[in-house]
Amino acid sequence: MPYKRFTINDRITLVQETGVANFMRCNIWHVKGRDFDLVIDTGMGLDPLKQWIVSDRNKPIKAVVTHCHFDHSGCLHEFDTRMGHHAEADILANPVNEQVVYDGPWTRIAIVDPKQHPDYSHHTYKIKAAPLTDHLDEGDVVDLGDRAYQVLHLPGHSPGSIGLWDIKDKTLFSGDALYDGELLDSLYHSNIADYLQTLERIESLGVDVFHAGHFPSFGVERMQYLINSYREGNNSLGDILEWFDSNKDQLTNIFSDQNWSKIPQ
Ligand SMILES: [Zn+2]
Repeated sequence: MPYKRFTINDRITLVQETGVANFMRCNIWHVKGRDFDLVIDTGMGLDPLKQWIVSDRNKPIKAVVTHCHFDHSGCLHEFDTRMGHHAEADILANPVNEQVVYDGPWTRIAIVDPKQHPDYSHHTYKIKAAPLTDHLDEGDVVDLGDRAYQVLHLPGHSPGSIGLWDIKDKTLFSGDALYDGELLDSLYHSNIADYLQTLERIESLGVDVFHAGHFPSFGVERMQYLINSYREGNNSLGDILEWFDSNKDQLTNIFSDQNWSKIPQ
């Protein structure tokens, strides 16, 4: 099976690609709504995704991309409604490998399982163009009819990173602005000053549950630990090639279900 589904609650299902290395595997969130369903992020695009987003009540499905990187935007093109931040609209309309941060270090090790994807080659991999149909920005609301999500602009990891904030359930879909792992702030369009501001903002929101772009969901104590560690300089990924080298021993069983996080629990 190219995707696995995990039920979080009545409203939220987590979908994950099985053939992608666990440290790279994006969380794809399916949120059920009264008027339509949402899919938040779409994986690498190695297999069609839409058919795995089961909408048992036959609702239309709209896609939100938290940012343009290849591990999140690969299947965006499958959805008729494609929402994201205008700062990354040009990249999504013309997804050049360098700009979706695919080129370079990620191609140094096999991030895709050759057993599941024998035709995959990092030389030919390319994301399909998925021009945004709706621009989301700070202050916008994505209203599913029975639940509304506030759009938060959370730059730092990338300039157009957004989060979806459910103030009622105190749940934040945080994308790669904050996940339970080492933060990536050294990409070509990352900005550390923005990242620090974004983390300060996240800290002040009053979030109970984080459903992030990678790794398991977490709560407020973990949030504080992750943010404090980042501020102290202990929770950024830094140079990706060095990271590969220093984690060589652990980069063995990377296609397992085990969630990758080097940060102590
Ligand atoms: Zn990511």
